Amino acid sequence: MPYDVTLIPGDGIGPEIAAAARRVLEATGVQFDWDVQRAGEETISEMGTPLPPAVLDSIRRTRVALKGPITTPIGTGFRSVNVALRKELDLYANLRPARTYKGVKTRFGDIDLVVVRENTEDLYAGVEHMVTPDAAESIKIITRVASQRICRFAFDYAVKHGRQKVTAVHKANIMKLSDGLFLESCRQVAIDYPQIEFEDRIVDNMCMQLVQKPELYDVLVLPNLYGDIVSDLCAGLVGGLGVAPGANIGYEAAVFEPVHGSAPKYAGQNRADPTAIILSGALMLEHLGELAAAQRVRGALESVLAEGRYVTYDLGGQAGTSEMAEAIVHRVEKG
Ligand code: NAD
Repeated sequence: MPYDVTLIPGDGIGPEIAAAARRVLEATGVQFDWDVQRAGEETISEMGTPLPPAVLDSIRRTRVALKGPITTPIGTGFRSVNVALRKELDLYANLRPARTYKGVKTRFGDIDLVVVRENTEDLYAGVEHMVTPDAAESIKIITRVASQRICRFAFDYAVKHGRQKVTAVHKANIMKLSDGLFLESCRQVAIDYPQIEFEDRIVDNMCMQLVQKPELYDVLVLPNLYGDIVSDLCAGLVGGLGVAPGANIGYEAAVFEPVHGSAPKYAGQNRADPTAIILSGALMLEHLGELAAAQRVRGALESVLAEGRYVTYDLGGQAGTSEMAEAIVHRVEKG
């Protein structure tokens, strides 16, 4: 039976890299019944919204989506499609693996980290107001329910993927109640996973240690704001957003997408690097339980990156998006 998957090519470079990822995923032999859904700039002009209801209906039906980047128009009043998807589908966990690949330039050596960021609360709840014309207040919301479920997600991920350790990141020495509750919730959840090592770090120290000795860390779990910052830090450690895959996962649905945006200046030029969306596709295969296919995609990509002959401009090569995808397809097919 083919997997029903919603495919949202997005806009800017989205359609080109989404086509590349589709070719690579199909080369594994895993069957997909793609429900292609349009969202973004073109649906604003045609339908008056960047997120037509059909997109949400489709993801609610298929429960899995692969998504290209979508431009957030500035000054039009439309909220970000990405934020809307997270809210509407309660995609509470943001998963951001960061690992080094031979052939991708970085100052750092062997890094293999997974950042699990809470996606629904913290300062991102958007509860803020002006107290006086000269003072603003923003309220940080941390709940036991959301903290426990993100921590459980991190431990389940660790168990499923053979990881050794989960580190909870916080600032509970200063925010004793809010971050204190996050830490306490993580400690409680950790008791259920005696086979996985658990430790915690204060966020500022964590940032320093990630730069100095990233090899000491494995799976990190963080509230929303620290997760936002630390996940980009980790992407920087391994070569930047161009190679950073991501997923937003909830109980009812999961959306897999590259971390980078729609890079409009490269749209339609066959220049964009498809690495991040292909790695996001590999995460999707894992989510579907297709572990061997995910490994084949990663192996093929790894060999193309290491060889460096068929890679895009940002990786120091001259290949176009489609040439790089074809080189990966060829290696996936060879197995
Ligand atoms: P961006 O990631 O689109 O681009 C920044 C720069 O990174 C680009 O100029 C380009 O040089 C490079 N780059 C990014 N992806 C690349 C790729 N695959 N291959 C080669 N080079 C690549 O960030 P931005 O310019 O800040 O945002 C552009 C638009 O994308 C904005 O409207 C923003 O809101 C949106 N955005 C969407 C998402 C999403 O849909 N998940 C995420 C971030 C930004």
